Amino acid sequence: MTNALSVQVCIMGAGPVGGTLACRLASGGVSVALIDRAELPPMENPAFDGRAYAIAAGSRALLEDAGLWDVLDVPPFPIRDIRVSDGRIGRPASRLHLHFDHREAGDEPRPFGWMVEARSLRKALNARLPVQPGLHVFAPATAVTERSDDGALVRLQDGTDIRCQLIIAAEGRNSSLREQAGIPLTRIPYHQTAIVCAVAHERPHNGLALEHFLPAGPFATLPMGASIDAEPNGSEHVSAIVWTERTRDAARFMALDDTRFAREIGRRLGPHLGGIRTVGRRWSYPLSAMIAHRYVDRRLALAGDAAHGIHPIAGQGLNLGFRDGIALTGLIADAAQSGADVGGEALLSAYQRVRRSDNLLMFAMTDSLDRLFSTDRRMIRTARDLGIHAVDRLAPVKRMFMRRAMGIAGE
Ligand SMILES: Cc1cc2nc3c(=O)[nH]c(=O)nc-3n(C[C@H](O)[C@H](O)[C@H](O)COP(=O)(O)OP(=O)(O)OC[C@H]3O[C@@H](n4cnc5c(N)ncnc54)[C@H](O)[C@@H]3O)c2cc1C
Repeated sequence: MTNALSVQVCIMGAGPVGGTLACRLASGGVSVALIDRAELPPMENPAFDGRAYAIAAGSRALLEDAGLWDVLDVPPFPIRDIRVSDGRIGRPASRLHLHFDHREAGDEPRPFGWMVEARSLRKALNARLPVQPGLHVFAPATAVTERSDDGALVRLQDGTDIRCQLIIAAEGRNSSLREQAGIPLTRIPYHQTAIVCAVAHERPHNGLALEHFLPAGPFATLPMGASIDAEPNGSEHVSAIVWTERTRDAARFMALDDTRFAREIGRRLGPHLGGIRTVGRRWSYPLSAMIAHRYVDRRLALAGDAAHGIHPIAGQGLNLGFRDGIALTGLIADAAQSGADVGGEALLSAYQRVRRSDNLLMFAMTDSLDRLFSTDRRMIRTARDLGIHAVDRLAPVKRMFMRRAMGIAGE
């Protein structure tokens, strides 16, 4: 038996980008169907996860408008300072570092961003998606799509036919809609793996995020709030770690017991946080970057990792996806208000114009940063230390970097 549903927008993929965009569009009065091939991940009682996103100011606004920010069960922790340094394992960082203080970024001091636990965002999405008026969720569900000049049809395996004007592919890096549309990709393999975990430490982090460049790749420490189940004994001081290592060495570190693993982290982190120990489980992600040559096709727009995947060196991957969501929300709302086609060519080319250049810039910046810092050649080390020092003294350049990291460069 066939069930028929008609909505304005159909989103494929209920990850952080697709899920948030679905809530945001529906709360703005746009009718939406959200489809994921997997079940919404049950996150209610897992062991402490330790993964977290650095969410920029622009992304926070999207989460607020989507009704998600206020229901995060672990309060987002503000990043007030960022320090960038260069070094070698087991040795103190170079004295020529770059320090960003949030009070220098603009006239109105606000944090660079907030650390949001991945698990907390997932829980907020899982709670919001089924109750958001105007939003129909199908997960798990498999779908086939047909797109024509007049509209699109999404056929679910259970017999439901969904008609819509626009399909948004938010299916992550291996987007099948992107592939079906024949959209080519540029891919960069990094031969690096990110090891991700959380540590509890003796001394407070004071809201400081550290990006310490080591020969195998960047080692980042990001300030988190006290999480009850991160630390049953009551430690208030917890940081997320994103440790980039050469892939050939990462498996060896992942296999270490907790004491040795914490010792390796300590050798890279330095002594400023006092004694540390790992909490929760550890994760590893092989790293690569990719960018789609086009973001649109007939009645189709790519968003989030389906359109671009970047090196996590600057913690900007999800923020770019949220910026895609902000652009789409604005364009769809304008089109709907003026009675225009929300999946028409005018909207699609405007979307591609505003988002591809911004994402391409961040793609190139993060790739160049990784190449510049993941080398131990003496001349390059000296040049980049001097560059770091120079930028530290150039207030307008520093301000530009800070505003871009906050996602408020255009304000
Ligand atoms: C180590 C590491 C650290 C990071 N840290 C940060 C950070 O601090 N800040 C930041 O901004 N970003 C960070 N990122 C990037 C961030 O994790 C990604 O950009 C983000 O997860 C992408 O979200 P997405 O919703 O686009 O895709 P995904 O999270 O991949 O979600 C895709 C969804 O689509 C579904 N799906 C897949 N195929 C189909 C299909 N055919 N049909 C229907 N559904 C489908 C999947 O089940 C999934 O639910 C980091 C990444 C890494 C690897």
